Amino acid sequence: MGILAPEARNSGIARAYSLIKDKVMLNCSLILDGSAQTYGKRTAILAKGESWTYERLHRAAGRLAKGLAAAGIAPGDRVILVCPNRAEFAIAFFGILKAGAVAVPASILWKQRELAFVMQDTQSKGVVCFEGSSALSIGRECRAAFEETDSCPHFWLIPDNPDQEAIDGAPTIQSLIRQAQDSLPTAMTSPDDLAVILYTSGTTGKPKGAALSHQNIFTAALTAARLVDMSREDVSLVALPMSHCYAQTAQLNAGLLCGGALAMLERFDPGQALQSMQEHGVTLFCGVPTMYWTLLHHKAEEQCNLGKIAARLRLGCCGGAPIAPEVLRETEAKYRFQILEGYGLSETSAMATFSQLHRPRKIGSVGLPVWGVEAQVVDENTNPLPPGVNGEVVVRGHSVMQGYYNRPELLEEVFRGGWFHTGDVGHMDEEGYLYLVDRAADVIIRGGLNVYPREIEEVIASHPAVAIASVVGVPHEKYGEEVAAFIVLKSGNSASPEEIIDWTKQKVANYKYPRLVKIVESLPLGATGKVLKKELRGRISAGEV
Ligand code: AMP
Repeated sequence: MGILAPEARNSGIARAYSLIKDKVMLNCSLILDGSAQTYGKRTAILAKGESWTYERLHRAAGRLAKGLAAAGIAPGDRVILVCPNRAEFAIAFFGILKAGAVAVPASILWKQRELAFVMQDTQSKGVVCFEGSSALSIGRECRAAFEETDSCPHFWLIPDNPDQEAIDGAPTIQSLIRQAQDSLPTAMTSPDDLAVILYTSGTTGKPKGAALSHQNIFTAALTAARLVDMSREDVSLVALPMSHCYAQTAQLNAGLLCGGALAMLERFDPGQALQSMQEHGVTLFCGVPTMYWTLLHHKAEEQCNLGKIAARLRLGCCGGAPIAPEVLRETEAKYRFQILEGYGLSETSAMATFSQLHRPRKIGSVGLPVWGVEAQVVDENTNPLPPGVNGEVVVRGHSVMQGYYNRPELLEEVFRGGWFHTGDVGHMDEEGYLYLVDRAADVIIRGGLNVYPREIEEVIASHPAVAIASVVGVPHEKYGEEVAAFIVLKSGNSASPEEIIDWTKQKVANYKYPRLVKIVESLPLGATGKVLKKELRGRISAGEV
């Protein structure tokens, strides 16, 4: 007949695939290889007053890869990378990947204990760490962690001054780059090989490493670039740490894939961000809600030319935490650009849903599932729930991780029914737009009734004197949990805890308003600007409230 039955056809394809499978190569450092070939002379990175072309960046990464390989770093070995937003982050990230090794980016804010945990958990073979500065103790912390970790044989520093070959006896990456005469050809890795391990922000529980493959990273970069119509003409302002999935996927990987330029800031500061936007003609910005809030309240008109910034700035992305609709609208009006909200986790290579550029936007929603990814809202048995009903958000598709590194016992639990369970609570509308309500772990159960902190935070934040509020549950003898709020007031404003309690009481059901309110100077924030609720709960148990 000449036509195969579907089963035979499928098995034929499966057999053919099994023959070529081991020959299929995908190393996500091709992101840099490809753009260096196509856009070699164009600017890839602008950082610390220096400009790096694609050619120069690629050469440094290739030589570092060779140096790492010569030192004994083999394909599959894990290498920790701790570096602020500067060109060396990209050099080390792609250098590690080119050598076929696995990059384990860690936050520059971590302390010895946290770094040592990740070194041991990943059984890393090497550490590449920025030397630090008077304001940043990372070099010292990381070295102390390395010294207590017997299983990790190599430690290299990233010097602030690129001429230094060693600092206090520790070799620098410059020594590896200089010793290598030429570049290492990119290692032949398969799409399923491990590329990056991202330790989740640790706002709850013990940190776990999301294990992401070369395919995860590459496809996420392509998807992110496509979502915002990114091109080589785009200049992205990178002010979020590239150690986190958000800036890593949406800016470092997507930006370099498209041949655009990345203007990097080591630390977000509204004045510096605006100056960089004006100087470099920034077209894209990725931020978390606290950044947009700061930009909204910054006296920008006095310090920069808003018209010049607006002439180039076309799009902002917002994710990582919920943004208040009025902050989004007012920031858009002030800077004359559009902000799209998206949602994702380290476990989904940063991306799950996004407000799509070419489809209607619904403010308050985190958009629709991104290309190739499905999202659903389900009950405790992973049965889909109808529109409007709150349940756990589950995701499946190309961006979902392989699992947690070294934690096979968690696989069954997080991949129940074939879907990755995010731990986030939300609902979808009739058109499939996702609305997040809260983190499942943050939901407060007071006397058997669910209180979603985010709802209460928004009500408190609508008080004219309040800048920001964070609501957490505290153990309570009678109700199981009680609602507590930490509040930062706008400068020059005053309000008493009683006034805030009264304000909220008038606007929400009786069981939801906070009985405990503490006015504070600031809230503890994680590396990406998320409020560390665990720390707030700790303050309550320590008797501070
Ligand atoms: P991380 O793995 O550090 O990126 O943290 C992921 C978590 O951030 C998610 O599980 C959500 O709880 C939260 N998150 C990410 N994007 C948003 C968003 N747009 N709105 C609310 N929460 C978000």
